Amino acid sequence: MAKSPEVKLAVFGRAGVGKSALVVRLLTRRFIWEYDPTLESTYRHQANIDDEVVTMEILDTAGQEDVQQKEGHVRWGDGFVIVYDITDRGSFEEVAPLRSLLEEVKKPKNVPLVLVGNKSDLDHVRQVGTEEGERLAAEMACAFYECSACANEGGTVAEAFHELCREVRRR
Ligand code: GDP
Ligand code: MG
Repeated sequence: MAKSPEVKLAVFGRAGVGKSALVVRLLTRRFIWEYDPTLESTYRHQANIDDEVVTMEILDTAGQEDVQQKEGHVRWGDGFVIVYDITDRGSFEEVAPLRSLLEEVKKPKNVPLVLVGNKSDLDHVRQVGTEEGERLAAEMACAFYECSACANEGGTVAEAFHELCREVRRR
């Protein structure tokens, strides 16, 4: 039997956008309110994607690394989840520079990535419109998901990670 494929995924985004909450949600289907913000961890997670068992190695970055550490993470990863918080415009504005760093480090390779606007349950304090996220994702030629680590309606969190695995495997 062929060895099940393994993909290395790194989760990027400003501190506080919910990277750890999303990863924990993916792994446990639960929401954990408080998670050490300085913690950087890797996790292994298996999922059945299109009738194939895929092993993900997921790096949950702290989001406060210096450039050198960030570059190391980028070199390590095959695919990237860039997360912003829909209630924090500043976190959205950090997406484009992150994307540039990915391109810079990985060039001339195309970088598999997905864009995630988290905390969609906080629509009443939203600062970034859904169309803005869609537009940015179109510019970056990647998939876009708005989701909530705490509500996770329709399993969107897993869908985002699975789509990224597909994207990595297509390359
Ligand atoms: P990280 O620094 O990007 O890893 O962010 P955390 O996962 O530590 O989350 C930062 C804060 O946002 C915590 O207080 C979480 O409880 C909260 N949080 C994370 N995801 C969501 C979400 O989808 N909805 C809401 N309302 N809060 C969230
Ligand atoms: Mg964290």
